[in-house]
Amino acid sequence: MAYLSIRNLSKRFGQTLAVRDFNLEVERGEFVSFLGPSGCGKTTTLRMIAGFETPSSGSIILDGVDITFLPPNRRHIGMVFQSYALFPNLTVADNIAFGLKVAKRPPEEIRKTVGEMLDLIRLSGFENRYPYQLSGGQQQRVALARALAIQPRVLLLDEPLSALDAKIRVELRSEIRRIQQTLGITAIYVTHDQEEALSLSDRVVVMYEGKIEQVGTPFEVYNYPQTRFVASFIGQLNLIPVTVEDPKRGLVRFGNSLLQVDPAPHLNRGQTVTLALRPEEMNLGHIEGRNHVEGRVLDVMFLGAIVRVRVDLQGREVLADLFNERQLALPRPGDQVIINFPPHACWIISEA
Ligand code: ATP
Repeated sequence: MAYLSIRNLSKRFGQTLAVRDFNLEVERGEFVSFLGPSGCGKTTTLRMIAGFETPSSGSIILDGVDITFLPPNRRHIGMVFQSYALFPNLTVADNIAFGLKVAKRPPEEIRKTVGEMLDLIRLSGFENRYPYQLSGGQQQRVALARALAIQPRVLLLDEPLSALDAKIRVELRSEIRRIQQTLGITAIYVTHDQEEALSLSDRVVVMYEGKIEQVGTPFEVYNYPQTRFVASFIGQLNLIPVTVEDPKRGLVRFGNSLLQVDPAPHLNRGQTVTLALRPEEMNLGHIEGRNHVEGRVLDVMFLGAIVRVRVDLQGREVLADLFNERQLALPRPGDQVIINFPPHACWIISEA
């Protein structure tokens, strides 16, 4: 049996079904993210695991024990919030020691654990400061240390980086992953930020309207999205309506262009379907291979590592991401261009 097993979990608030039949098995030491847009039920699911919310139905089994109705303080779960929630009148050391003092651990053990935690979060020397004397990033490290000091069986993190500025967010992101791996702790991380979920997690649970849409590794959910929602929520996606010409040979038509895709024998000739294609698979200006379509550049966004070009493809807007190189000749708005892409780069979504 998995270390943490969530079965048929649902939560209703009046008319709102916030979480619908949520099923998930988490292995010991795994880092799992709940990813989805605002209101999709991520936080409610996390709060049910923590014990702050009572499920309407379903169960939560942790290490073989049914904890569904156990009060939060008896679950042995650590939690980190977006707002840090440190005790303002306690020093860093006392904040970290808080859970251990409540558990009446011996003073020697508390001192030792606080020292270890300060090392782990790289804030040794800060033990006597108060939260207001720390930056946001430092406060969140202390909140993390406080959650970890009690050696929780699971660490829950609810959008812990949302209040921080972009650079600190990226730094702390890798700190969280390093600490989680050092301790081998099981972690669940709630976020609406796909980059965070993809970069941190062993597996990502993509949620929409209270339901799980897909569970998979970052590689799987990005490269093999199973639903239209996952495909469009994670990463950028171009959707191009095409008509099936020859399903067995994988030929489809877009305007005047005949395009080669993977064979799709389940489709019918004449059927209208949608071709899905990531912007980084779109090449600009090469008349290579079989798939080229003429278009006109609408605008060009220089994003540093990539250059994002918006192209009008015979009435359909698409994005093409070019890798930046110093030699790159930047396209300009109004340029006539040829878009081309390899046949295996796109997939077909059956409905138009
Ligand atoms: P966000 O990223 O905005 O926090 P979320 O994915 O975490 O969103 P939840 O906070 O879990 O979403 O909310 C899911 C749904 O349940 C929403 O429609 C929300 O309005 C509703 N909801 C959450 N908590 C309550 C509550 N205490 N009472 C009534 N409705 C609630």
